[in-house]
Amino acid sequence: MKPPHCMRYEKNDRSVTVGAVIPCAGKGARSGLSDNKVLHTVGCKCSLEYVLDAFTAAGVDHIAVVAAENDLSAVKDIAARYPSAFPVIGGATRGQSVLNGLRARKCDIAVIHDGARPFVSPDLILRAVKSAIEFGSGIAAVPSVDTVKRVDGDGRVSSLPRGELFNAQTPQAFSYPDILFAYERFSGEQTDDAEVYAQAGFSPRLVDGSYDNIKITSPRDLLALPTDCRIGVGYDVHRLVEGRKLVLGGVHIPFEKGLLGHSDADALLHAVTDALLSAANLPDIGVLYPDSDERFSGISSALLLSDALKRATGAGFSVRSVSAVVMAQKPKLSPYIPAIRKSIADLLGIPTERANVSATTTEGLGVIGQGDAIAASASVILTESAQ
Ligand code: MG
Repeated sequence: MKPPHCMRYEKNDRSVTVGAVIPCAGKGARSGLSDNKVLHTVGCKCSLEYVLDAFTAAGVDHIAVVAAENDLSAVKDIAARYPSAFPVIGGATRGQSVLNGLRARKCDIAVIHDGARPFVSPDLILRAVKSAIEFGSGIAAVPSVDTVKRVDGDGRVSSLPRGELFNAQTPQAFSYPDILFAYERFSGEQTDDAEVYAQAGFSPRLVDGSYDNIKITSPRDLLALPTDCRIGVGYDVHRLVEGRKLVLGGVHIPFEKGLLGHSDADALLHAVTDALLSAANLPDIGVLYPDSDERFSGISSALLLSDALKRATGAGFSVRSVSAVVMAQKPKLSPYIPAIRKSIADLLGIPTERANVSATTTEGLGVIGQGDAIAASASVILTESAQ
């Protein structure tokens, strides 16, 4: 969590208290998820946590998180990690939930923001609050990109003038007494706080929203949330002997010697496999494919890497990139690097430009330099899949 801004909201040298109301009580039926989309964790955080991070960074005084009874214990756990946040029980409609949140604690300026808009920035919150301090309200909105059509009862279609159209978002900030008054006299359905405010006779004022500030409605939208990255490192070395085929990165390389081992002894694929398993928090290659197991005698290491990939995918990860270095005095590997890169990329199901391999000698030093062994080191980056 970012540290709070060292700022105070003020008007005419008087300090202004700012409270946030975050409705999270919607059922989110369109999201297709079994849990509340606002609480659905992607990577290491859920949408509500991104929202609370932004409001904490914007330095608001308190944050009422309005949740349905079913979600209350989950929301309590999350709110407990944010000193200014606290849970409030929601109502039967969004309007009643907002009203419960407003009544929970008084302030000078109330900012209402959907829990399902995780991409809100502290700067956008600040713009809305400052407008509300100055003019009574600040409604985040962006000019409409699409042409909007109106269809009348007879099916006649007409276009609305796009230059006059804006898409309203949240945050929407208001003078607290005015929005409380507006909600207390309002009955019916609404999806927009500015509409409730306008129906009470006030004039909403727009501030620049952001096209990034989308509302999560489908599982696809969740893919836009940042995901957690994991890095893994692997290393392997095998002895070079006569009478064996040399295989590196799944590619056969003509040479008078080959690597000795229980499998095909592909040191490069072993390093990549161990890096992948390590990043996915899985046991290492020696544990999963022990050389005491006859099933792995002479096996192609490509099969071991494919099996490790299946395990990592099953654990909820996908491969982002791999980078590896082969240490060999001989043979000269540069002519084979393109084929090795393609082989590894194909095995991992990633584009070749995300699978890079380099080769180096050890300047004649040590067992590698004397041509008795080949070693390889690799790092793999994984991301947690959204679902
Ligand atoms: Mg090995």
